[in-house]
Amino acid sequence: MTLEEQDKQYILQTYARDYTNFVKGVGSTLYDENGKDYIDFASGIGVNSVGHGNDILTSAICEQTKNIIHISNLQVIEPQAKLAQKIVDLSGYDMGIFFANSGAEANEGAIKIARKYGETKFNNKRYKVITLEHSFHGRTITTVKATGQESFHTPHFSPYPDGFSYEKSIEDVYKAIDDETVAVLIELVQGEGGVQPFEKEEIQKLARHLKSKEILLIVDEVQTGVYRTGEFLASNLYEIEPDIITLAKGLGGGVPIGAVMTRHKEVLSAGDHGSTFGGNYLSTTAGLAVLDILTPLYESGTLDEVFIYFSHKVKDIVDKYTHLFEKEVGLGLMRGLRAINTEIQAEVIKNCLKEGLIVLKAGRNTVRFLPSITISKDEINEGFKRFEEAISTL
Ligand SMILES: *Cc1c(COP(=O)(O)O)cnc(C)c1O
Repeated sequence: MTLEEQDKQYILQTYARDYTNFVKGVGSTLYDENGKDYIDFASGIGVNSVGHGNDILTSAICEQTKNIIHISNLQVIEPQAKLAQKIVDLSGYDMGIFFANSGAEANEGAIKIARKYGETKFNNKRYKVITLEHSFHGRTITTVKATGQESFHTPHFSPYPDGFSYEKSIEDVYKAIDDETVAVLIELVQGEGGVQPFEKEEIQKLARHLKSKEILLIVDEVQTGVYRTGEFLASNLYEIEPDIITLAKGLGGGVPIGAVMTRHKEVLSAGDHGSTFGGNYLSTTAGLAVLDILTPLYESGTLDEVFIYFSHKVKDIVDKYTHLFEKEVGLGLMRGLRAINTEIQAEVIKNCLKEGLIVLKAGRNTVRFLPSITISKDEINEGFKRFEEAISTL
């Protein structure tokens, strides 16, 4: 039985999967079973923030697993407390953290905090959460309902929880607020929706308005967090102070972790929320190592240099291949090329893989780049060389 046959027989077929069998990774290069190399501009959908096989991360994980991998959250967990302090310090916000295992779960926690806040802080019960069209917030029944894309709300999984509505733009959010609205949930750069950043002034204005109404601003930083946009959090870049922020993807460097942080530390009390695995020794030790690797790169200005270098490369492509791409979109190392149509988007991604380059899709016509934050200039050069080869026939 081949690997593909094994997968098709025993794995539930929920993904449109590629069958390249990767067996090794070094930095931003992956190797398949035949020894062919691929430049990784996807980093596991923004997860492998420090690349593959990073010594600091793998040693920290190895050392920790030889000791304790897991005890329950009924005991205090030292690396969990340390990671929480580090995240709070780096964010600059006075917040408390709950650790989960994924982005969807972090968002579930955010919605629970918002709902309890809405139940206890006002004269009437408030429970409605406004989100935006083209957003993505997860795959659980609640977070899929929070996701502003009708195609995700299929009748197969109904009924969904009440209290979610979607607006076309930030401007439309103001009109949608009523006396049952408790929160607005947004991504500052819509990732899955097409690598689309919002205007800073627009977001700052919304944040001020919500604060004046005591309505919560929840920022889903599952994809934008942990230096992806150039600052530790995109909220730092936008210079806002959200009520709740969620993190996941890049935080564990590949080890599953999610986090919800809030300045309303008093809302949840004992018994309100919990997780068996969330914040265990393994994932929080990995999180600490990831931050130990990335923070010095940020502080030395190295990240900025790499980000500028990468964005110039993307820009060059747009200038040169106007028959394929309309424009460059995104921020930091969350970049995209708007293809002129869906067919070109699909062709580009397929050709890239053939040429030994892994890129992602986003939205209807965006080719997305989410490389490791630690990617080197050599890897960037080689990646774009392969990209040009991949599109040369189109
Ligand atoms: C990936 C993503 C999620 C979901 O995270 P999972 O770990 O897959 O549950 C939620 N929100 C945003 C913005 C994401 O990019």
